[in-house]
Amino acid sequence: MKAKKETGKFISIEESRKNVGKKVNLRGWVYRIRESKGIIFLVLRDSSGIMQCVIKEGIPGFGDAQKTLNEASVELSGRVIKDDRAPEGFELKAEGFRVVGPAEDFPIKKDQSTELLLDHRHLWIRSRRLTQIFKIRSELFGAIDSFFRGRGFYEIQSPSITSSACEGGSTLFEVDYFGSKSYLTQSWQLYAEAMIASLEKIYCIAPSFRAEKSRTRRHLAEYWHAEAEMAWMDMDENLKLQEEFISFLVQEILKKRKKELEFLGRDLKILEKVKPPFERVTYDEALEILKKKGIKFQWGEDFGIDEEKVLTSQFDKPFFVVNYPRKAKAFYMKVNPENPKTVLCADMFAPEGYGEITGGSERETGLKELVKRIKAGGGNPRDYQWYLDTRRFGSVPHSGFGLGVERLLMWICKLDHIRDTIAFPRTINRVYP
Ligand code: ATP
Ligand code: MG
Repeated sequence: MKAKKETGKFISIEESRKNVGKKVNLRGWVYRIRESKGIIFLVLRDSSGIMQCVIKEGIPGFGDAQKTLNEASVELSGRVIKDDRAPEGFELKAEGFRVVGPAEDFPIKKDQSTELLLDHRHLWIRSRRLTQIFKIRSELFGAIDSFFRGRGFYEIQSPSITSSACEGGSTLFEVDYFGSKSYLTQSWQLYAEAMIASLEKIYCIAPSFRAEKSRTRRHLAEYWHAEAEMAWMDMDENLKLQEEFISFLVQEILKKRKKELEFLGRDLKILEKVKPPFERVTYDEALEILKKKGIKFQWGEDFGIDEEKVLTSQFDKPFFVVNYPRKAKAFYMKVNPENPKTVLCADMFAPEGYGEITGGSERETGLKELVKRIKAGGGNPRDYQWYLDTRRFGSVPHSGFGLGVERLLMWICKLDHIRDTIAFPRTINRVYP
C-alpha cells in the first residue's frame, strides 16, 4: 500500500516528546535504518533531535521504507510512546511512512578520514555534533547583539573591500578592483574610528579576511569578527567592558544551550566560573611566567601558539595580557605614557591551552605620532589621508577591541580545531566546498 501525503500539522521531534500517547506527524531525515524480523527501525533526525520510529509490515509505505537509505527525507505519522530502551527515551509507533526525497548511497560512513569529511562538508554539516555546535554558534551571535544593544551601542556595517591595510601587510588578500589594487578587509578598524564621531559607541559583526600562511588549528582565512569602538573611553574602561562582554556571552550560552554543551561533553564548571574580574598580566610578567616554564622568548615579539599554550594552561579563567611592546602591535595603538616602548593594549586569552580570543587597545589620538607610526611600519601616510582626518577634526580619546567569534566558540565548546566552529571553513589549503 502506498502512503498518502500527510495533510495534518507537522511538529518537531522535540515537541513530539511532550505528546506521549498522542498521534503526531513528523518529518526529517533518515539518521539510521535497519530491518529486523519484518520490522523496520528508522531513527529520524530533524533539527531538534532524533527519534526511533518503528514501522511494521502492513503499514502504508512499508515497501518504500524497505528501500529507503540513510539521509533520505521522509514523513511519518504515528503514536508517541515512552521507551527507555530507545535512543533519547521515546519511540514512534508508525502508522504511515512516505519518502519526500530519496537518497543515494550516503558517501559518509562510520570512521571516515578527516579529508573525506572535509570534501563532503556540505553533507557532514548534517552530523549531530556539528548541529549542536551550530546551535551554540547561533546563540552566540544573538548574545553579541543583545549585549551591545543593551548598552546603547549602534550596529554599523563597514566595507569588506578596502584600499589600505590596518593589521599588517603579510596576511592581506589582494583583490583586483576594476584594475586597481585593493584588499579584503582584516578589520573594520580605520572605518570604526571615523564612525565614532557620528555614533560614539558602535559595534559590527562581519567577516574579516586573513591570508594566514601558518597552518594552525586556530586560524581561518575568513572568520567572523565582532568589533566594538567607543568614543571617550580609556583602556581601563575598555578592559572592564570586555570582561563583562565575554562573561555575558558565556553565561548566556550556559543558560540557553546547556543541553548542546553537554552533548559535546563540555565541563560546565569551567564555564560557570567565567565572571568578572579577569586577571591582568603585563607582557613583562607573561615573559616571566614563560621563563619559569623553561620557554625562551625575545622581548618585543608577539606570542605564537606555543607560548600561548603554556601561558593559558596556567589559568582557569580568561585573562588579559596588557602593554605589549610597541613594535609587536598595530600603528594605531596609543603609546603607554608610563613606558613609551609599550602600548596601551590588551589581548584576552582563553584558558585551558586555548589562546588569544580578543585584541584591543586605546587608540593614538595625536596626528604627528600616528604619521610617525605609519612610516615606522613601512606604510605611506598618503594612503591614510582620509583616516588621518579623524585626528584633524575633533579627535577624542577612544578605545576598542575585536573578538574572533570562532576562537571564543572553539573554547566554549572545547574543540580541537577551529574549522568545526563554522559550516564552511576557509583555510590555507581549502576553499571547496
Ligand atoms: P593571532 O596572533 O592569533 O593570529 P592576531 O593578533 O592576528 O591573532 P588581531 O589582529 O588582534 O589578531 O584580531 C583580533 C581577533 O581576531 C583575535 O584576537 C582573534 O580572536 C581573531 N583572529 C585573528 N586572526 C584570526 C584567524 N585567522 N582566524 C580566526 N580568528 C582570528
Ligand atoms: Mg594573526
